[in-house]
Amino acid sequence: MTTPAQEAARRRTFAIISHPDAGKTTLTEKLLLFGGAIQMAGSVKGRKAARHATSDWMALEKERGISVTSSVMQFPYEDRIVNLLDTPGHADFGEDTYRVLTAVDSALMVIDVAKGVEERTIKLMEVCRMRDTPIMTFINKLDREGKNPIELLDEVESVLKIQCAPVTWPIGMGKRLKGVVHLLTGEVHLYEAGRNFTRQDSTIYPSLDTPELAGKLGPAMLAELREELELVEGAAHPFDVEAYLAGRQTPVFFGSAVNNFGVQPLLDFFVEHAPSPRPRATTTREVAADEERLSGFVFKIQANMDPQHRDRVAFMRVCSGRFNAGMKAFHVRSGKEVKLANALTFMASDREIAAEAWPGDVIGIHNHGTVSIGDTFTEGEALSFTGIPNFAPELFRRARLRDPLKLKQLQKGLAQLSEEGATQFFKPLMSNDLILGAVGVLQFDVVAYRLKDEYGVDASFEAVNVATARWVHCDDAKKLEEFREKNAMNLALDAAGELVYIAPSRVNLQLAEERWPDVRFAATREHA
Ligand code: GDP
Repeated sequence: MTTPAQEAARRRTFAIISHPDAGKTTLTEKLLLFGGAIQMAGSVKGRKAARHATSDWMALEKERGISVTSSVMQFPYEDRIVNLLDTPGHADFGEDTYRVLTAVDSALMVIDVAKGVEERTIKLMEVCRMRDTPIMTFINKLDREGKNPIELLDEVESVLKIQCAPVTWPIGMGKRLKGVVHLLTGEVHLYEAGRNFTRQDSTIYPSLDTPELAGKLGPAMLAELREELELVEGAAHPFDVEAYLAGRQTPVFFGSAVNNFGVQPLLDFFVEHAPSPRPRATTTREVAADEERLSGFVFKIQANMDPQHRDRVAFMRVCSGRFNAGMKAFHVRSGKEVKLANALTFMASDREIAAEAWPGDVIGIHNHGTVSIGDTFTEGEALSFTGIPNFAPELFRRARLRDPLKLKQLQKGLAQLSEEGATQFFKPLMSNDLILGAVGVLQFDVVAYRLKDEYGVDASFEAVNVATARWVHCDDAKKLEEFREKNAMNLALDAAGELVYIAPSRVNLQLAEERWPDVRFAATREHA
């Protein structure tokens, strides 16, 4: 009989973060290949191609079945179970990405060797910092000319403020790429072009002193390499597992995802050192993964693959205990027991009915609108996991109906879409407007399309005089009442009924903050 402790110890749950085009999709594909989840690399590519072909969300939404199944990919590797959570690629879906990062135990950062640290990587890194998420780094596209590796590590250290510990080191680059040296084992992995879909095992030499190697690399390159390695060993930080787990140091690997090169040392090292499910904070106590009783939280809600069915899938990260098919769980927010029937798991590329799931795993729960992002499920304890944020939107529009008789549907659609995190929605205290908030402008298009497609509502969005929003808190109920009365014109309720200050300008917000020192204006709202 297995226990949550044993199963949790085998789990590695992570996400890949990168700037678009660095190679996230390609690397995902190769990891699945190593995990035996796909035979010939290509299935993820197909999805990506479909995404690129239209480069818009509509096809993505139409292909929802695919995007649901590929949101989480589980595969075994050696005696471990790896859960890879997909982060949406487009910048406008940033909020979704942030929430996915709350559900992982570690991250893998992909950097393009020629481009170095890019803007989106910096942002994602900031999010990882909030929870000290351990990060491994893969420097990709070594088959192309890029930056000098030593300078690149300097760049990562200075821009991302994290120590680098190289684990593999490149031998040449671009046309001169010969392989990588594993700095901890001393092994030399030779590069052979054209082995994109097979493991490159046969070309590993136990050390630089292996006689055949002189012939393969040539004495000049070998001498140069030895010199460089001496320099690296003197200057670089040695791998320190504690520093890695604390989020202070990132082990660095070099390779070429598309050529399936350098991926295996990364994956081997990853399953060995990446953390298994870590303890999670709740409002009352810390929950350890090896606890016997089930707990988990919802970090994402996605419309189901079949548009005829209005039900949606809530993605729950299991934090402790054991999930069994058909078990009853306590839905903390509603205070109700619910049967988790037909939950989905995401083994390989198929979705299957989950027989059981363990800490670190993700299950998909069918949801008819009662489950929201941030919700906790337990076996009875009123736990509430913290740290799953809503971000203050930066763009606002007023919804305008073409057919006024559809107001009910509009409200229902907006409530459901905001519950999914597709948009945020605010009702001003003093008017009948429906105001939408978004972090990226594409979100409005998504909402308009889905309102029409799924709710039969033809709505357009027009400019509204709101520049920014803040969730309002005050410990002093009397002060809050006073604040509410004096500022009713600038107050609204969000979809969850929380009070929000909607400011016509940043200056207005600043003045309000100065005028009301006892009131807190929060730029994020944690689901609770
Ligand atoms: P994503 O946007 O981060 O998911 O990036 P993709 O995986 O889609 O890769 C972006 C582009 O870079 C694609 O054209 C890939 O074929 C290419 N690419 C990925 N890995 C490598 C690599 O190791 N070498 C080279 N030369 N190209 C690569």
